[in-house]
Amino acid sequence: MRIGILALQGDVREHRRVLTALGAQVETVRRPAELAAVDGLVIPGGESTVIDRLARLSGLHEPLRAAIAGGLPVLGTCAGLIQLAERLRDGGPGQETFGGLDATVRRNAFGRQTESFETDLVVPDLEGPPVRAVFIRAPLIEELGPAARAVATLPDGRIVGARQGAVLGLAFHPESAGETRFHELFLESVRRR
Ligand code: GLN
Repeated sequence: MRIGILALQGDVREHRRVLTALGAQVETVRRPAELAAVDGLVIPGGESTVIDRLARLSGLHEPLRAAIAGGLPVLGTCAGLIQLAERLRDGGPGQETFGGLDATVRRNAFGRQTESFETDLVVPDLEGPPVRAVFIRAPLIEELGPAARAVATLPDGRIVGARQGAVLGLAFHPESAGETRFHELFLESVRRR
């Protein structure tokens, strides 16, 4: 299994560490030919407006959109979730997403006091200890369409993770809290395909 990490901008290193520890062969993806060579893709956190701009500049936008629509398993965290949203609120000027998740996502949804916070989540799909999640200038999933379902919520019920087939989008950073179970779910989707 060759797993790509979209490496235009953002926290590539921590995803690489988790995926490598889980036994995946990890490649960075910056060009269309590199995208074509992987069986699954991680879109990391970072700044989604920059990821969007660089994806268009490098000719990756359209191939990525097509690959995701065609069933490529994808895990997107934070800015990566934003780039998976079919509908975006508070996006940057002209910001475009890759789509794949039938969701309305609001960028930078948490106010100043809570720009960054850590909390336990409700994640019925995962067994074991509660999921400790780190949120950094995080987005929020405000609405889900019928094709997607919630997989992670805050204790107050707001949705911070959703899944549609092999596409998994998370508003938080599991990779920086030592959490590996979402990456395992993602690798399972890759194996199944
Ligand atoms: N606020 C960032 C954005 O708009 C996302 C932050 C993150 O990925 N940690 O893309």
